[in-house]
Amino acid sequence: MYLKPDSQIVPGRGLPRVSIVIPCFNEEAALPHLLAALRPLCADMVESGRAIAPVEVLLVDDGSRDATWDLIRAAAETDDATLRLRGLKLSRNHGHQRALLAGLMTAKGEVVISMDADLQDDPRAALQMLDAWRGGAEIVYGQRSARDHDSAFKRMTARGFYSVMRRFGVNLVPDHADYRLMSRKALNVLARFGEENLFLRGVVPLIGLESAIVTYERPPRIAGETKYPLAKMLGLAIEGITSFSVRPLRMITWAGLGMAALSMAYLAYALGAWIVGGTVRGWMSMIVSMTLLGGMQMFALGVIGEYIGKIYTETKRRPRFIVDEIAEPHAESVQPMRHETVDRAAARRDATVF
Ligand code: UDP
Ligand code: MG
Repeated sequence: MYLKPDSQIVPGRGLPRVSIVIPCFNEEAALPHLLAALRPLCADMVESGRAIAPVEVLLVDDGSRDATWDLIRAAAETDDATLRLRGLKLSRNHGHQRALLAGLMTAKGEVVISMDADLQDDPRAALQMLDAWRGGAEIVYGQRSARDHDSAFKRMTARGFYSVMRRFGVNLVPDHADYRLMSRKALNVLARFGEENLFLRGVVPLIGLESAIVTYERPPRIAGETKYPLAKMLGLAIEGITSFSVRPLRMITWAGLGMAALSMAYLAYALGAWIVGGTVRGWMSMIVSMTLLGGMQMFALGVIGEYIGKIYTETKRRPRFIVDEIAEPHAESVQPMRHETVDRAAARRDATVF
C-alpha cells in the first residue's frame, strides 16, 4: 500500500527495465535463500507486466571474507529468462552505504530497487514499489510496519536513533532502511551529490521529486549474523548527524554561553559571601567547576574535530568505492574494470546531463 491512492499510470511510463541492487558482506549463508526468493520475484515482475525481461539483479560484494563472491560468480553464469544476475566485487570492505552507492551507480535499469541480502525487506513489496513508480513517483521508500522480529535492544536503539536524528534536524523517513526504489532521474541527481561521507537515508530525501511510501512487515534475518553491531550503529548515527547538521556546533555555543552565565552567578554569590564574611574554603567547588569545564571543553573540541575531520576527508576527493571485478553472464560487452573507480566518472557524466 502506498500513499498515493489516486495515482494512475503516468503517460509515457511504459514497461521499465528494472534493476535490483543488493550489497552483500559475508552473506554466504543468506545468498542461497536470497536467490531462491529473487527468481520467483523477477518472474512475477515480468509476468505481471511490471518489468521488461530480464530483470537485472546486481549483487555487490563488499569485500567479503567468506565464499560470497564465489557464490555470486557461480550464480552469474546461470542463465535465466527473467533474471540476469551480475556481480560487482569491491576491492575491500567499504561499508554498507558505499557498497550500495557502487551498486546504484553501476545498475543499468531505468528503475533501480535496493534491498538487503538477508530478506528482511519483504521482496514482494518491490511489486508495489513498481506500481507507485508507474503512478508517477520518482522515489519510493519501503517502510517497516512492525519490528516484532527485531530484538528489544535493536528496536530500542533504532527508535533512539531516529529521535536523536530528528532532534538534530536530519530529515529521515521513519522506519525506512535502504529498501527503496529510485528512478533514473532520481539516480542522476544522486550522482551529483559528491560527498565522501555519504548517508543515503539522509541524502535521498534531499533529492525531493515526487515520492511515495510502501509499507511491509519485517521478518527476522534469514541466515547469518547482523553486520551492524552497536559500534557500527553508533558510527552511523554520528556520521548521519555530522554529515547533515551543524546544530551540534550551535549547541556548543549555547552551552558555552550557559556556562559563562552560571559562572557569573557563582561569582556574584562568592562575592556576597565574602562581603558578609562567610567565605568557605571552596576546594570542592573549585575542583567541580574545573572538571566540569574541562569536560565540556573536551566535548566541544571533539564535536568541532568531527566536522574538521569531515572537511579533511571531503577535500581529498578520494574515490568513494573501488571496483575490483565484475561478473556477468557470458558475452556481455562490459569489460571487467580492474581497480577503476566508476563513481566519479558517473558523477561527471551525469552532471553534464543537468
Ligand atoms: N553490508 C555491507 N557492508 C557492510 C555491512 C553490511 O554491504 O560493511 C550489507 C549486508 O550484507 C546486508 C546489508 O548491508 O545486505 C545490511 O546489513 P545487515 O542486514 O547486517 O544490517 P541490519 O539489518 O542488521 O541493520
Ligand atoms: Mg538486516
